[in-house]
Amino acid sequence: TDLARRCAELIRDVPDYPAAGVMFKDITPLLADGPTFGAVVEHFADVARRAGGVDLVAGMEARGFIMGAPVASALGIGFVPVRKAGKLPGPIMGASYDLEYGSATVEVHPATIEPGARVLVVDDVLATGGTAAATSSLIERAGGVVVGLAFLLELTFLPGRSMLGTRSLDVILSVD
Ligand code: IMP
Repeated sequence: TDLARRCAELIRDVPDYPAAGVMFKDITPLLADGPTFGAVVEHFADVARRAGGVDLVAGMEARGFIMGAPVASALGIGFVPVRKAGKLPGPIMGASYDLEYGSATVEVHPATIEPGARVLVVDDVLATGGTAAATSSLIERAGGVVVGLAFLLELTFLPGRSMLGTRSLDVILSVD
């Protein structure tokens, strides 16, 4: 799509960051481009509208905050921050997942998710899928219904998509 092409031009490849052998996708040039950032937000808002009745947008720390909060605001609905361990005061609910070395934990305030609330999950990059899978099961355990996940970028050489089960997935741009 035209939006995918514009996004591709504004994502910078950074070799060997944050570790040797990793090609990091830097989205800061895209965020700095007002019309493209706005079009990405509008695209995610359309994903939510097509999902039919979304109550909340959830975004993962930290770039999911940047992408997700304006989507919630555009739709006139609330935003739920999915934070890294230890950042939210209690009561919290958490989910841990495996990393290549060690593990990570994501946490939310379950009180902000009404029973049956329909939630769209937004983040910048779908890589191994660990973050998105843990976030989705956490929201579901907190009582929400994940109506879909939306990403700017999917790294298709990683199995992220297969981690999400049957949940509906929208990506603006895929890279292999
Ligand atoms: P995953 O859990 O391996 O799918 O990694 C996804 C999380 O790591 C997301 O929250 C992304 O923001 C971040 N991430 C992984 N790879 C990249 C990248 O190349 N650029 C920017 N963020 C990345």
